[in-house]
Amino acid sequence: MVKKRLGIVYGTRPEFIKLWPIIRQLQDDPDFSTVTICTGQHREMLDVIHNTFGFTPDYHLSVFQKNQHLTDLSAKLFSSLGSTLRKLDLDAVVVQGDTATTVIGAQAAFYTGLPVIHVEAGLRTDKLRNPFPEEANRRLVTQLADLHLAPTQLARTRLLAEKVPESRVAVTGNTVIDALSMLENTPVHFEDPRAEEVVESASPFLLVTCHRRENWAQLPQVAQALDHIAAEFPEWRILLPVHGNEDLRRSFEALIDRHKTVVLTGFLGYPEFLAAQKAARIVLSDSGGVQEESPAFGTPVLCMRKFTERQEAVDAGCVTLVGTDTDAIVEAFTRLATDPGAYASMAHAAHPYGTGDAAVRSIEAIRTMFDKRTA
Ligand code: UDP
Repeated sequence: MVKKRLGIVYGTRPEFIKLWPIIRQLQDDPDFSTVTICTGQHREMLDVIHNTFGFTPDYHLSVFQKNQHLTDLSAKLFSSLGSTLRKLDLDAVVVQGDTATTVIGAQAAFYTGLPVIHVEAGLRTDKLRNPFPEEANRRLVTQLADLHLAPTQLARTRLLAEKVPESRVAVTGNTVIDALSMLENTPVHFEDPRAEEVVESASPFLLVTCHRRENWAQLPQVAQALDHIAAEFPEWRILLPVHGNEDLRRSFEALIDRHKTVVLTGFLGYPEFLAAQKAARIVLSDSGGVQEESPAFGTPVLCMRKFTERQEAVDAGCVTLVGTDTDAIVEAFTRLATDPGAYASMAHAAHPYGTGDAAVRSIEAIRTMFDKRTA
């Protein structure tokens, strides 16, 4: 095969985490060269994750602006990605997941006449506005992609049901498991000693993350649930790393005044957050990535969503959807914390997203795509 030059576009922490195993493999592959383009949709969190992996992207477009509306962000992404892709002489563009960077990256590549490769294709809740705007973003990317790298058989089935040709879909596993396997045993360094103390202590703790846009209005209910849990279970600690967003932080601040057992920190570095997921007795989260990672460690997840695009871990018994209602969260937590049978039924490792070879499989599928195009 004539060497192919791939543009790899990403803009947020989870996109980079999930593309990193592919970027690394491609760098060692004589059939490919890469140009990495970071849009900077998340700024601070990306800086930290780039440092963790000792990585500097070839292009950094710095589209981040505080409190930027999605429409303004999209306009900026379109113009900066468009002009960057046009000058790079690429053979294809790789995008990951379901963010504004993903969908605009795919569209900019498509308008530039380049094939689009979608990593983590075929996730669906079947609710156009939930999660918002991710469900719409991933459906739009499906319309534009030439190669769909589906993490699971279920994702493949979803794509085929939408009439994506079978020959354009490959089941690869999820590259997050590759990333996790690469880092799981690296030494961790907590910036905040209070977080380290909770993670390293033998006492049980609940790890909480809550950041999804569609949950912002329900944050007081979630805070109230944590207030109840902290009051009813004083032997448990609650570790709450929050995104840089000030409003998110403010929603939980009253808790630290009321309970010494609640530790509110800034977001954790990736190896530290993996260590926290592994050591936590229970995880309460609305994150997508957490629904994939915690099951690999056998840590039960109470997922603060009504719908999930990651049904595989629910079916494997490792994730339960609890929504954001105060009573539902308290009830689900209490059951797991007090009923050893209920806990044991969820606390087992499961690997519906693969065992760490998703990057290798993805690259084989990309090679096959190019072979077919030149045949
Ligand atoms: N993560 C992290 N530090 C944190 C919280 C999360 O490194 O304090 C990682 C987590 O392990 C996962 C990813 O960030 O790989 C998930 O990102 P996020 O929850 O922001 O987005 P989502 O997965 O919901 O798109």
